[in-house]
Amino acid sequence: CQLQNKISDCSFYNSEITNKMIMEQKLCSLFDDSIKNNDFHVYIQPKINLKNSETGGAEALVRWFHPDRGIIYPSDFIPLFERNGNIIQLDLYVFEKVCEYQKQRIDSGKKLFTISVNLSRVHFRNLNYLRPFIELKNKYNIPDGVIELELTESIFFDNQQIELVKNAINQMHSYGFLCSLDDFGVGFSSLGLLKEFNVDAIKLDRKFFEDITNSKSQNIIISFIDLAKRLNIHVVAEGIETSEQLNFLKSVNCDMVQGYIFSKPLPLNEFEKWADSRENKCDDSLVYN
Ligand code: C2E
Ligand code: MG
Ligand code: MG
Ligand code: MG
Repeated sequence: CQLQNKISDCSFYNSEITNKMIMEQKLCSLFDDSIKNNDFHVYIQPKINLKNSETGGAEALVRWFHPDRGIIYPSDFIPLFERNGNIIQLDLYVFEKVCEYQKQRIDSGKKLFTISVNLSRVHFRNLNYLRPFIELKNKYNIPDGVIELELTESIFFDNQQIELVKNAINQMHSYGFLCSLDDFGVGFSSLGLLKEFNVDAIKLDRKFFEDITNSKSQNIIISFIDLAKRLNIHVVAEGIETSEQLNFLKSVNCDMVQGYIFSKPLPLNEFEKWADSRENKCDDSLVYN
């Protein structure tokens, strides 16, 4: 009987895996059509500068509007597209939408703030990966300093990439992009890498803020902020939802906060309204000051 249970467990497990694979294949086969039909939508979430409570920047986050399944979140498709390589095209698509949006703000005389775009580590397999981004930046006449590229720590999983990434970051800067390290502190990077990498900001992962009243958590956050400040790197706290978290971060001089407490990621037109309603509160600085 026990054996029979195991066998049925096993076939259940197998069919679950098979179903998952079939679903993933279906999703992958929709990619080209979805790009053509504009079924990928760029959402924008603001980052608030804690020194003056103004919009200090924003992040572009992609959502997929599936014809039958409705909205699909990045965690359900980014890993697939990292495996089959479609992520390169998808990141460029998101990047272009951000260029279009910034261009629109420039043309209508609105104040600009830096918008960041997530860049998968897959790009780094190609030495010329930055070329299409530079071409789009030129095509839309985007000034320097208003687009930031976010890299996750997972790019350092492979130590051999360190030299490559170091050069890539320097190259980003020379073409007028800012660069930040996403999900900082939970992945593979060591603090020492901050010496090698000339990044403008680190984004502390929201895990650090989950138990904000815990004194160990507090000391870790304080130490990260202190270290970053000594290295002249800005700190963005991610996933901030509560006033306890916000008040603590203010009290320890964190630079910026991103999280539901201010706004969820919004579709471009809604974000535009949100930003406009705060515009008279915005300062002139494009980058973190
Ligand atoms: P990320 O870059 O670290 O983005 C932050 C994630 O936290 C986003 O999830 C955002 O919606 C979510 N978030 C923001 N504020 C809060 C909060 O207060 N509470 C909670 N619980 N969550 C919050 P999302 O949009 O589902 O994206 C997940 C991840 O997928 C991103 O993490 C990023 O790594 C990746 N991703 C999203 N868009 C793109 C893209 O265009 N290209 C690439 N390569 N990756 C992307
Ligand atoms: Mg990010
Ligand atoms: Mg993050
Ligand atoms: Mg993440």
